[in-house]
Amino acid sequence: MKSVLFSRFFILLPWILIVIIMLDVDTRRPAPPLTSRPYFAPYSGGRGGARFPLRRGGPGRGREPRNESWPRPPPPEPPLPTIYAITPTYSRPVQKAELTRLANTFRQVAQLHWILVEDAAARSELVSRFLARAGLPSTHLHVPTPRRYKRPGLPRATEQRNAGLAWLRQRHGHQRAQPGVLFFADDDNTYSLELFQEMRTTRKVSVWPVGLVGGRRYERPLVENGKVVGWYTGWRADRPFAIDMAGFAVSLQVILSNPKAVFKRRGSQPGMQESDFLRQITTVEELEPKANNCTKVLVWHTRTEKVNLANEPKYHLDTVTIEV
Ligand code: UDP
Ligand code: MN
Repeated sequence: MKSVLFSRFFILLPWILIVIIMLDVDTRRPAPPLTSRPYFAPYSGGRGGARFPLRRGGPGRGREPRNESWPRPPPPEPPLPTIYAITPTYSRPVQKAELTRLANTFRQVAQLHWILVEDAAARSELVSRFLARAGLPSTHLHVPTPRRYKRPGLPRATEQRNAGLAWLRQRHGHQRAQPGVLFFADDDNTYSLELFQEMRTTRKVSVWPVGLVGGRRYERPLVENGKVVGWYTGWRADRPFAIDMAGFAVSLQVILSNPKAVFKRRGSQPGMQESDFLRQITTVEELEPKANNCTKVLVWHTRTEKVNLANEPKYHLDTVTIEV
């Protein structure tokens, strides 16, 4: 009897040991690493991508975590502020090329709403078709610039930017403002993706350098102890805000709480559009410097060369009609 028990015990012993070792290994296996977030993480990570760390093949799937070192899901992220880009645009041979470059940039930015405002008496077919295929949340507006303002030396796109502002105020007027940031994106400038990361955290009004503007390689706000104290510019340094249209962003809340702030025609001198607008909504002391205390150029005031159409026939010669 004893020997039977002994022999059974020795047959079972290795199996018991194997089970104990396996359980021990299982609980000691290190937790899989957290998935790394993409480069534009602060706001693109967790949207469309994995919200929680992946647990590929890890133990305890579908079970309670076994020990305290197991990673907990991160707390929910705050809502991503929408970036509203107001772009005035007008018909010319390079228009579709400019809009194509711009859409290719905007398509890479999370939660961006494009407000495209045509300087025209009606929405054009070219822009309507373009926007329909652009794959971007967008609003298509139009307003013509009165002929008397279509002169060299006068500010451009005043009415179009105001139409964009009016649309924003109307859309958000009746509800508590969703988090949002507005900026003015001319159709011919060049925008780095990092710029959108910077402007997304605008609380009231943020500013940054602009390249290739004002007759210099760049213009920039001068920053001391985190505050704007002046302007590095080669042109009309007496401007209250010596900054290009591409050099600032405004929170939606500020736009809504200053319902009368618009771009003015009357009394506005050339190059004063930005200052005239900004002084209605903020002060220099209040500005939030971005782009590493305004030491990085993330947007360029590029201008497209006028296209040479010297050999374009007077009358249509081709067998097909092609949109360019
Ligand atoms: N624009 C417009 N109507 C015009 C001229 C310009 O809507 O008659 C738009 C243009 O498409 C651009 C912005 O206004 O988005 C600024 O114009 P532009 O780039 O010619 O000005 P600059 O480069 O001199 O600041
Ligand atoms: Mn331009």
